[in-house]
Amino acid sequence: MTLSRRHFLGAGMALGAAWLARPLSAIAAAAKATTLAPGITRVTLGKATITTIHDGFFVRPLDDKFVRNVAFAEVQKALADAGLPIDKLEVPFTPVVADIGNERVLFDCGNGEFGAATAGKLLENMAKAGIAPDSITAVVFSHFHGDHINGLRNKAGALAFPKAKIFVPAPEWGFWMDDAKMAAAPEAMKGNFNAVRRVFGPIVDTLKRFEPGTELLPGLRSIAAFGHTPGHTVFTVDGGAQKLLYWADTTNVASLFVRNPDWAVMFDMDAEAARITRRKLADMVIAEKMLVAGYHLPGSAIGTLATRGTGYEFTPLAG
Ligand SMILES: [Zn+2]
Repeated sequence: MTLSRRHFLGAGMALGAAWLARPLSAIAAAAKATTLAPGITRVTLGKATITTIHDGFFVRPLDDKFVRNVAFAEVQKALADAGLPIDKLEVPFTPVVADIGNERVLFDCGNGEFGAATAGKLLENMAKAGIAPDSITAVVFSHFHGDHINGLRNKAGALAFPKAKIFVPAPEWGFWMDDAKMAAAPEAMKGNFNAVRRVFGPIVDTLKRFEPGTELLPGLRSIAAFGHTPGHTVFTVDGGAQKLLYWADTTNVASLFVRNPDWAVMFDMDAEAARITRRKLADMVIAEKMLVAGYHLPGSAIGTLATRGTGYEFTPLAG
């Protein structure tokens, strides 16, 4: 009797745990994803429609410089545990389009004509999604690294999204447009300072600099997420039924930095600030049952987060 009662209680507790776990998975199921074409995923969040669009990817050899604060063997183990190669990394690029009210917003612009041969596919993939470049009403930048900004203007100088208002985070602008900072920067960073001037120089007078924390458009808010760069900024899109956080480069490769949020990728300019930002935003996504999209996240690059061990796990939505 005692045994069967204990058995029953055990089963009841297991059932309780299953029910507790249910809301998160129910949310994921509620947000239905449709694959429009390979690399193009559409998700409806009530009043907003989100389309993630691959710009392609870049393969880099993996060395002990990529993660700055852990032993290389640990990095390789994390990749092996995720079923990934341990000698190279495939880093995807995925800009996001959000249709909210009368606005069609593009978050980050891809590599354009300036990246690897395997990248720069944004315009081609937008066409497959039925999104014309002149239908983009706003381009919103998370930060000014080349893989995010170069697609705004081609080699001939033409803007890719001619009718769009351009929004840039004021602190990011302040850093990269500062000639003294450019002069003082290591040689390896000068190319990025030049890219910023090439892309934004001709539109200095018309682009909109915003303070992170403000609402840019109805349903679209910005959140300061400094660390990766001095003005790195992320965005929420409120669809009424559910919210999306576009967290840009809050993490690089998910199996390393979502799983191990305290690890520092070599590109984080202030590693400690980036670490704090990563945890804060991941906890917010989980607490508020948001979807998350990220520029370097795998698969559809939009999905759900859950805690796992001392870190988190990203599960992409699939159509
Ligand atoms: Zn990036």
